[in-house]
Amino acid sequence: SIKGKVAVVTGSTSGIGLAYARAFAAEGANVVINGLGDAAAIEAERAKIEADFGVKALYSDANMLKAEEITGMVKLAETELGACDILVNNAGIQHVAPVEDFPIDTWNTIIAINLTSAFIASKAAIPGMKAKKWGRIINTASAHALVASPFKSAYVSAKHGIAGLTKTIALETATFGITCNAICPGYVWTPLVEKQIPDTAKARGMTEEQVKKEVLLAAQPTKEFVTVEEVAALAVFLASDNARSITGAMHQIDGGWVAE
Ligand code: NAD
Repeated sequence: SIKGKVAVVTGSTSGIGLAYARAFAAEGANVVINGLGDAAAIEAERAKIEADFGVKALYSDANMLKAEEITGMVKLAETELGACDILVNNAGIQHVAPVEDFPIDTWNTIIAINLTSAFIASKAAIPGMKAKKWGRIINTASAHALVASPFKSAYVSAKHGIAGLTKTIALETATFGITCNAICPGYVWTPLVEKQIPDTAKARGMTEEQVKKEVLLAAQPTKEFVTVEEVAALAVFLASDNARSITGAMHQIDGGWVAE
């Protein structure tokens, strides 16, 4: 059981990350939440985790663009809560534009947040995990770690990169009681998806309603959005002792998307 363990979840002030943090806390893990947003709203979510589940919840304001802040987030878990047993690299952003119009700065920012931050956080957390002979690294990849869609060059490249990072870390840590896996969700209804609808509509010359039905849910054979709770339940399983032999794997939770 993960009761009493410490989970650090990047990008957990909203969406899938917040669902991960709450699901780990429901299992009795202490958590470090992280991400951007309104300070009062974040403090309310942090306090609610403690109140709902009787665990400790800390907030790290580390910006996933800044290496020393990412390292500091892992250190915060180690010094204040005793360890970083479970690291979930989840923070991510999206930008939708054709390659020829895609700003270079935006490309660099997406690679930094969606890929490089996972490398830096893992680099910081692995020594402590190796010392304890137990650890779980779970990366939120995407169906876009396995297949592409047009107009998402930086995102698809970062997520394919996460696949490579996941497999490499799995091999390096395999004999230390540490697993490293990637979760590959299809479309999950979160602010990240909601916010890309206007740009996708513009890029494809469609209405926003057409984008939901003909672009997003068209890719998903179930024709339904995945829920954040379903994604979090998969992460809880990957963190469990029964999942100790599952490492270096890509776990699709996509309503059949990449099966097509
Ligand atoms: P979201 O926008 O709700 O959450 C993103 C989180 O990342 C927020 O907490 C935000 O504050 C944080 N974040 C963004 N930039 C940051 C920075 N510089 N430093 C620290 N934190 C930062 O989106 P979501 O849909 O919950 O996405 C979470 C992850 O799931 C992302 O990696 C995303 O690519 C992935 N994903 C989402 C979907 C989907 O359909 N929603 C599908 C597949 C994969």
